[in-house]
Amino acid sequence: MPLIEVSSTPVVLRLNRDLVRLIKRGNPWVYADALRELPRAPAGTPAVLLDNRKGQAVARGFYDPRCPVALRICETDPELKLDDRWAERRLRGALDLRRGFSCDGPTNGFRLLNGEGDSVPGVVADVYSDTAVVKLDGEGPAGFWKIDELAEWLAREQNLPRIYERQKERGAAGRPLVGTTPAEPVSFREHGLEFTADVVRGQKTGFFLDQRDNRQLIRAWSRDATVLNVFSYTGGFSIAAGAGGATQVTSVDVAPAAIEAANTHWRLNGFPADQHTGVAADAFEFLAQASSEKRRWQLVVLDPPSFAPNRESVPKAKSAYQNVIEAGARVTARQGLLAVASCSSHIDLPMFLECCEEGISRARRRGTVINVGGQPTDHPTPLALPEFRYLKFVLLRLD
Ligand code: SAH
Repeated sequence: MPLIEVSSTPVVLRLNRDLVRLIKRGNPWVYADALRELPRAPAGTPAVLLDNRKGQAVARGFYDPRCPVALRICETDPELKLDDRWAERRLRGALDLRRGFSCDGPTNGFRLLNGEGDSVPGVVADVYSDTAVVKLDGEGPAGFWKIDELAEWLAREQNLPRIYERQKERGAAGRPLVGTTPAEPVSFREHGLEFTADVVRGQKTGFFLDQRDNRQLIRAWSRDATVLNVFSYTGGFSIAAGAGGATQVTSVDVAPAAIEAANTHWRLNGFPADQHTGVAADAFEFLAQASSEKRRWQLVVLDPPSFAPNRESVPKAKSAYQNVIEAGARVTARQGLLAVASCSSHIDLPMFLECCEEGISRARRRGTVINVGGQPTDHPTPLALPEFRYLKFVLLRLD
C-alpha cells in the first residue's frame, strides 16, 4: 500500500510571479495569491508547479485550494516523481537525523518527524518510549499522506507497538492507528528524568518536547535556588530545576490537570514532596498577588502560550509579552534569573528581545542576557523557512 496519494494525475499550477529562486533555495510554501489560477481539486492532490515565464516545471508537491498555503512543495527536482520511493527516502532521512535518540536511551521522548523541516510536509510524529503520536497539519496533508500506511511503516521501522493519531483541532477526538488507544499517560524519559505524556488528552501531542534543551539550561542554573515556573503545564521546567538542585519549586498553570501531573512528575523523580508547590491559578493574577505580597524567587521561568496566532495580532501580542515579562521581573530576586519563552512565529527574536527590554525596564530592573535558546535538534527546520523557527528562549540576570 502506498504511503502517499499517487492515484490521481497531478494538477498543474502556474506561478504568477517569479518565486523560482526562493523555491529552489528551499522555501516549501507557495501561497494561493502567488498562483495564476486555483483549479478545483480535492485537498492533497499531487501537483506540478510551472514558472511564470516559459511555463517550465520547477517543483512538485501537493495542493489544497482552500488553504492560504495552497501548495506545499515536496521536491524541487521536477523530474523526480512523487511516489513511494520518494516518500521512503524522505522518511529514512528523518530517521537518520534522530540517530542520537533511542527508545532505551536517557531521552526516549523525541520528535521523529518535523514536517517541512524533514521534507515530509505537514506530518509531525512524536515518540514517547514505545508509543508514537502522529499529527497532520490540515486537510492538504491529510489528503496527500496515507496516514494508516505511514503508521504501519513507522511501527515496522522503529519497532513501535503503538501509534496514535491526534487531530490538528484542539479537543477533536483522535484514534489508534497501530495497537490500542493508551489507557493511561505514557511514561518516557528526558535526560534521565521521568515524565508521562497524556497522548490522548494532553496539549500538543502530550508534552512540549521543543523545550528540552532549555529545560537542561534551567537545570544547570537551579542549584540552591528558589524557582517559580509560570505556565508550567505538567512541570517540565520544575522537574529540571528539582534535578538541578533547586531548594523550593512552585509551578503555576491555569489547568488543574496539568498541575496534578506536575505533582505526579515531582514524586515520580523521587524529590521531597515538601519542596514542590503546585498552584492551579491564572498566571497574571498569581503574579500580581505575589508581587503585592513582596514574594521573590531566585529563578523565574515564564513560558506562556502563543499570544500571536496570526500577523494581525502582533501588536496586541507584544504588549501581552511586555506585561507578563514585567510581572515576572517584579517577583525576581535581586541578582536573580528570569527566563522567558515565546512560541509565536510571528514575533521574531529582535522583537522578543525588545519586549524583554520594555517589560524589564517597566519593572525598574535591568537585564543581562546569559543565553538565547531555541528548538532542539529533533526539530529541524528548512533554512529558507524562518516561520518554522518559532521558539525563542532568553535567560537573563536582573540587577
Ligand atoms: N513550560 C511548559 C509548557 C507551557 S505551555 C513545558 O515545558 O512543558 C503553556 C501553558 O500555559 C499551558 O499549560 C496552559 O494551560 C497555560 N496557560 C494558558 N493561559 C494561562 C493563564 N492565563 N494562566 C496560567 N496558565 C495558563
